[in-house]
Amino acid sequence: MAGVALATLLLLLALAPGAFARTDQFPAAPTAPPPAEVAPELAWRESTPVGLWWAGRLRRGVQLPAEGPDWFTWDPVLKRTPDRGWRRWGTDRLVRTVVDVLAAYRLANPREPRVGVGDLSRRHGGDFGVRYGLLGHGSHQNGLDVDVDYPRQDGHQRRPHKPSQVDLRLAQDLVDRFVAAGARTVYVGPSLSLKGPRRIVVPLVHHDDHLHVRLPLSGPPG
Ligand SMILES: [Zn+2]
Repeated sequence: MAGVALATLLLLLALAPGAFARTDQFPAAPTAPPPAEVAPELAWRESTPVGLWWAGRLRRGVQLPAEGPDWFTWDPVLKRTPDRGWRRWGTDRLVRTVVDVLAAYRLANPREPRVGVGDLSRRHGGDFGVRYGLLGHGSHQNGLDVDVDYPRQDGHQRRPHKPSQVDLRLAQDLVDRFVAAGARTVYVGPSLSLKGPRRIVVPLVHHDDHLHVRLPLSGPPG
C-alpha cells in the first residue's frame, strides 16, 4: 500500500501549482546565457583546407553559429560570449566534429552546462596572429584547429581563468572524445593532469584555460 500512498503524494505535489517548483529546480549558473532552444541552422558545404595549420587558408568554410543546444562561443580577446562571427569559420569536417562531440558529451553528462568554444579560423583562413588580439594564434589558419574551453567546477558558462577552476573529470571526458573523433593533436594545459595517447595529447603553455583540437589534413567527409 506504500506505493498507493506515494502515488497519492506525488499526485498532490503535482497538483499544487508552483509549491515545490522553485526549490527543486537545478540552479542556473549566474553568468549563464539562456540556452538556445532550437538548434541553429548550419550552412553546410564542402570545404577545403589549403596548406598547413600554421601556414594555410580556408576555402568554402562553414561558420559555427554563435550558440547551440550544447555549446556557446567565447571571445578570448573581449572575454565575452559570443565569439565574434569572423573568428568562427572552419572546414565542414571540423564544425561537424565539434557539434557531434559536444552533443555526445552532453548526452553523457545531461546535468552539465553547455561547453564554451573559442576561435576556429577566419573566414578565408590565413594569419590569425597577434594583430587579431592578445597572443593571437600560431596556427588556426586552414580551418582545422579549434579551441574548446574546459568545463568549470562552478558550472559558470565562461572560460576558466585558473587551473583550480577546471573540472578535471569533465575536461578529461572532452579530451577522450576529441581523441576518439580523430584529432591529430590535442594541446592541453601543463598544470592539468589530462591524459591520452602521448603523440596526440600534448601539454603546451597557454593551454590551462582551454584545450586546442587539431584535425588531420584529410579525414572522413564532414
Ligand atoms: Zn588554439
